[in-house]
Amino acid sequence: MNPITYLRPGSVDEATRLRADFEEAKYLSGGHTLLPSMKQGLARPSHLIDLTAIPGLRGIAVEAGDAALTIGAATRHVEVASSADVLRVVPALAGLAGSIGDRQVRNRGTIGGSVANNDPSADYPAGLLGLGATVVTNQREIPADEYFVGLFDTALEPGEVIVRVRLPVPLAAGYAKFRSAASRYSVVGVFVVRTPQGVRVAVTGAGEGGVFRATALEAALSANFSAEALAGLSIDSGALLRDMNATPEYRANLIMVMARHAVNNMGRVSMYK
Ligand SMILES: Cc1cc2nc3c(=O)[nH]c(=O)nc-3n(C[C@H](O)[C@H](O)[C@H](O)COP(=O)(O)OP(=O)(O)OC[C@H]3O[C@@H](n4cnc5c(N)ncnc54)[C@H](O)[C@@H]3O)c2cc1C
Repeated sequence: MNPITYLRPGSVDEATRLRADFEEAKYLSGGHTLLPSMKQGLARPSHLIDLTAIPGLRGIAVEAGDAALTIGAATRHVEVASSADVLRVVPALAGLAGSIGDRQVRNRGTIGGSVANNDPSADYPAGLLGLGATVVTNQREIPADEYFVGLFDTALEPGEVIVRVRLPVPLAAGYAKFRSAASRYSVVGVFVVRTPQGVRVAVTGAGEGGVFRATALEAALSANFSAEALAGLSIDSGALLRDMNATPEYRANLIMVMARHAVNNMGRVSMYK
């Protein structure tokens, strides 16, 4: 096994300087993706730059007038799931965080790590894309519509650090998740959001290119917000994932089923399997 140097910077500037100094260094947050990848030999960092001691990277705040939620990158899933603020203004997001993995994963994993990793079956990408969030880094602000670019791929430049995410508070949101019995990742997860401008629908777990917006469902629900409005619509299975959990055709059907459950259960998370 290669030797690894563990570093614990006290500021984002120090973290980015360290990252620039060591080409094979990686940021570490909750470690619940990076450490399993290292165990499997899929990642071999020379240095681990732990972001979790940096003041200001952790915590949840609601902007004046409940306009938006701000969540620090190093905020753990359990903190989002149990936050009185999140439960009050976007309860479906708290439920989404509470649906991630198991207790151990939720106690260590962070929103910044999940969003940086952009696993195609992860839950937060659906929440961020559905809510029209902004990913705030040490360099810029990236709208969610531009941030998620592909499987495990994002708009982040090498060395760029997610500092926080900003989530506009919607009129209402709901999340329905059909999960893998083993990992609890989404086989299909559909996050439905009502905003004053219309409805947004984000789908995780299903797309070959990762999380995506279901625009036909958005148009139907913006015209008539009811599960009946989805009758007769279908999802093209052509660009959906095939793996041991489901075929593309099964996922296409699940997206419609989960979308109906989300619409019928706004304000909370409906979980299946
Ligand atoms: C058994 C198990 C079950 C799981 N189930 C689910 C599930 O149901 N749903 C789900 O969504 N997820 C699930 N996860 C993943 C979990 O949510 C992880 O915590 C998350 O994907 C990564 O967050 P982390 O804080 O652990 O990041 P880390 O593992 O520390 O880092 C992940 C990657 O992000 C980079 N990174 C971390 N923070 C930043 C930052 N601030 N800026 C830039 N880059 C950064 C790291 O360099 C690394 O490349 C599961 C994980 C396990 C082990």
